[in-house]
Amino acid sequence: MASLSCPECDAGIALPSDSVQGEIVACPDCGQSYELRESDGAFTLQAAETVGEDWGE
Ligand SMILES: [Zn+2]
Repeated sequence: MASLSCPECDAGIALPSDSVQGEIVACPDCGQSYELRESDGAFTLQAAETVGEDWGE
């Protein structure tokens, strides 16, 4: 399973093997939400746009 480091707190965020671009993942440590972006076969994290959305914490 791949994982990425949270840009905010550097905690590890595990990525399911079936992750797809556009999927929203949340940091287990600081709770920040990110959208997965795929670039050259590797995923990067982009801070999720939550304007006007309530994800129901
Ligand atoms: Zn974090």
